[in-house]
Amino acid sequence: MTHSRAVQIDAFGGPEVLRLVDVTVGDPGPGEVRIRHHAIGLNFIDVYHRTGLYPLALPARLGMEGAGVVEAVGDGVTHLAVGDRVAYAAQPPGSYCDVRVMPAMNVCRLPDAISFEEGAAMMLKGLTAQYLLKHCRPVEGLQPGDYVLFHAAAGGVGLIACQWARALGLRLIGTAGTDEKCALAHANGAEHCINYRRENFVERVKAITGGQGVKVVYDSVGKDTWEGSLDCLAPFGLMVSFGNASGPVPPFAPGILGPKGSLYVTRQTLFTHITSRERTQAMADDLFAVVTGGQVKIHVEQRFALADVQAAHRALEARQTTGSTVLLP
Ligand code: NDP
Repeated sequence: MTHSRAVQIDAFGGPEVLRLVDVTVGDPGPGEVRIRHHAIGLNFIDVYHRTGLYPLALPARLGMEGAGVVEAVGDGVTHLAVGDRVAYAAQPPGSYCDVRVMPAMNVCRLPDAISFEEGAAMMLKGLTAQYLLKHCRPVEGLQPGDYVLFHAAAGGVGLIACQWARALGLRLIGTAGTDEKCALAHANGAEHCINYRRENFVERVKAITGGQGVKVVYDSVGKDTWEGSLDCLAPFGLMVSFGNASGPVPPFAPGILGPKGSLYVTRQTLFTHITSRERTQAMADDLFAVVTGGQVKIHVEQRFALADVQAAHRALEARQTTGSTVLLP
């Protein structure tokens, strides 16, 4: 038995419900590994879990991303060995801890050139950017030179997506909540970045694209941007809804999509994309290649001790963070 600290919630609520508890961790069962974390990734989905927007059975552990070293390997796990440096985005939640036992399927060996902090900061966010840009394509496809709109472009997923889109030759228009965040997104590959708290992003997108609109909108802001996002799309454009940082998208009538240009709408989640070991590894290899190749830099902009997890959640929800945030055990 190994001892570990773990963040637990006994009720849904604000950051104050996050508390550190002492737990014992056993040996991995079939298909599992035991990992000692060196860094833990903070994600907006952790906020949805904490508030109950995405309800978990209580009491619940939080955290879906981490990096560390494999301490023990269960029966049937062939792609990992004791001592491997690894990183993951995985269910069930529970990465906010020193040591954990978890399913091995989504755990990947980390290239030597990628640090633990970068690993913990890039798996959930980077695999998300990967599937958004590579697998969420409009029926007519996406070609280099096409315009796309990416909301919250200076955030964790956003900064990775800006750089990756530039590497793919896409003309990414970002949005962000301050001029400083816009400058950061621009420096990382967004051809334009609109401060959507100050400017009407629909009008600006129309002006930038010469009235044509964009082929895809990637919208993780949800309630506040939904309607405007649809109005930014070119005919047959694709609306990819993948988050609710401002609140869930309200119910809508599909009939509105016709007059707006025969639009397509999809709601995506990473965990549909990483349901097999092979697919997870293929997506991770694609991500590792752009990071080690220098096309995508992982911005770890905030670091908090694991014990300061409440402060980390407050900063993320208050829109005070840029890029990725890690918790350090
Ligand atoms: P971010 O670092 O991007 O933080 C969220 C950002 O959303 C904020 O910094 C803020 O940027 C923006 N935002 C806009 N309105 C609000 C609001 N009312 N309250 C708080 N933030 C707001 O987080 P992540 O990189 O972890 O995730 C980005 C988004 O992608 C989240 O919505 C997340 O749930 C989603 N996601 C979805 C996945 C999926 O597969 N479906 C997987 C991974 C992430 P600004 O101030 O610039 O507006």
